[in-house]
Amino acid sequence: MTLKLCLIIFLIITVIFFVRGLRHKESPMFMGNPDAGEQKQARDPFANERALMVDRQIRDRGVKDQKVLKAMKKVPRHEFVPDDLIRHSYSDEPLPIGHAQTISQPYIVAFMTEMLELDGDDIALEIGTGSGYQAAVLATLVKQVYTIEIVDALGLQAKDKLKSLGYDNVEVKIGDGYNGWPEHAPFDAIIVTAAPKDIPAPLIDQLKKGGKMIIPTGGVNSAQTLRLVKKDMDGKVTIDNVLAVRFVPLTRK
Ligand code: SAH
Repeated sequence: MTLKLCLIIFLIITVIFFVRGLRHKESPMFMGNPDAGEQKQARDPFANERALMVDRQIRDRGVKDQKVLKAMKKVPRHEFVPDDLIRHSYSDEPLPIGHAQTISQPYIVAFMTEMLELDGDDIALEIGTGSGYQAAVLATLVKQVYTIEIVDALGLQAKDKLKSLGYDNVEVKIGDGYNGWPEHAPFDAIIVTAAPKDIPAPLIDQLKKGGKMIIPTGGVNSAQTLRLVKKDMDGKVTIDNVLAVRFVPLTRK
């Protein structure tokens, strides 16, 4: 009798373990089809750091635009940072990218992007391609990005990087961006990531009616101000000072 009971208990335990083992093995089938984005994130070793960057450095400081937050979460900043600085990719600071230039602090990239209130069918112009990171963030949000870089080596590098990462809606030009890119004007949005002394008149001209430009102005070693330029539907221009900043100077060819 006791032996029978033991055998039955043993059998029950064996069946339980067998069924649990099966379920464990087959669990990916039961989990359904995971979201493609999540699969991609799992392969990206920086996905968690980037999500933290967005939460702590950007959302907590007041950037609210969900589309901007999503874009910042998506674009792999570490791809645009020099190899020896890759571990700092998601830290709260600008980083050197060579040629005495920098990739902007993530918060500043997000703040400036939010100020532009972009739409999916917008055409945007960037002056100061640098690493190509800001262009990639813009490309995630608008239809087409035109970006100009004055340092040949940086422009070429950014062009290759953007292409290899699949940002097909970005065109990079090497040259002096002071005069804008008249062939593609007018622009819904213009972003300048190097500081001229004053706002270049050609850039105001190339802004579409209803368009916005975000641009730092000021001297090299003096205070700089981030300014939001708006052109209304009648072509009237207003300029607001929005933030004290520090950018590399806009140089001329
Ligand atoms: N947006 C960049 C930040 C680049 S820093 C990024 O996301 O990495 C500013 C860049 O502006 C530098 O690469 C600098 O070479 C470039 N620059 C300076 N003067 C310029 C000009 N007149 N025309 C185009 N680019 C310019």
